[in-house]
Amino acid sequence: MSRVYNFGAGPATLPLPVLEQIQSELLDWHNLGLSILELGHRTKEFTELAEKTEADLRELLTIPSNYKVLFLHGGGRSQFAMVPMNLLQDKTSADYLETGIWSNLASIEAKRYCHVNVVASSKDSGYRTVPAVETWSLNPQAAYFYYCDNETVNGVELPFVPPVTVPLVTDMSSNFLSREIDINKFGLIFAGAQKNVAIAGVTIVIVRDDLLTSVLPQTPSMFTYKIHTDNNSMYNTPPIFAWYVASLVFEWIKKQGGVKQMQEQNQKKANKLYQFIDQCDFYYNFVEKKFRSRMNVVFNLKDETLNDLFLQQSTEAELAFLKGHKLVGAMRASIYNAMPESGIDALINFMTDFAKRYG
Ligand code: PMP
Repeated sequence: MSRVYNFGAGPATLPLPVLEQIQSELLDWHNLGLSILELGHRTKEFTELAEKTEADLRELLTIPSNYKVLFLHGGGRSQFAMVPMNLLQDKTSADYLETGIWSNLASIEAKRYCHVNVVASSKDSGYRTVPAVETWSLNPQAAYFYYCDNETVNGVELPFVPPVTVPLVTDMSSNFLSREIDINKFGLIFAGAQKNVAIAGVTIVIVRDDLLTSVLPQTPSMFTYKIHTDNNSMYNTPPIFAWYVASLVFEWIKKQGGVKQMQEQNQKKANKLYQFIDQCDFYYNFVEKKFRSRMNVVFNLKDETLNDLFLQQSTEAELAFLKGHKLVGAMRASIYNAMPESGIDALINFMTDFAKRYG
């Protein structure tokens, strides 16, 4: 068996032991004589799995009991609408910080439901930084403050939790479980699973229960958090396979030493790659240093005419999907929890060699 290092932004690489376990128990899950793919969500067996998955996540992130955990359909994009529909309550305005295309898209979606106050945006500078907190024009009457903790496309990550007084909402789709966080600081956290948690299909939402008192008129039932919390995420048929993969990934993280260990490893991997890019004349990264993402390392070749060759040869060297997002161009190495340090080493070796040959 030959497996490449997969630097794709998502659906992304999964821990090998997780894939092996899925393979080994795919045809006969827990001696039931059937596959998890064929298992009803209301069975005792799946209910137990669901409860254990939630308990593991609560343990991994020390989630307090006044927060609900949901496993939903619909991806990050559905959350762009669910957040305003559920959290506006009697307010008409929400604050948005724009640090990349995902927070920008979230703010555009929110405009369908409320006045969006963009507190600050780094759009004009090509989303390469996070505007200084002192420049944010916060609205103390906002229903909530929204930001994207890690901008997957632009490679920008916040190294701090925004100091705001209104409920804090964050999109952690691409850095969920990559570092320790204090849940108490947040009103709502959401994360599509296909990057750092599992496969596409499940979206995790952690929400403080006092925020769920009402929804906008005509909010679909499927978009109402309260309906999902009242039904333990089983209002309709949940994405059971993705939920099951999440359960295996949570167990894997626990075995590795928990989120603290992930954080240390992620910092080490990212430092190694950025240090290499910074000291090599051939490549550069354009994100302001303190806001560089530990998960999505964007970089350019100084001679862009070599881009296609770089991508062709890196693919041949079994380093897959290094092409950056079409809106930003260049290259992007997504190095989530499941990317081993050996993948970073292989990438640096290739980049060193390529620079020697074409520099
Ligand atoms: N937010 C972030 C930070 C993302 O990276 C993505 C997807 N790449 C989304 C939201 C949208 O997620 P989905 O495709 O699951 O709707």
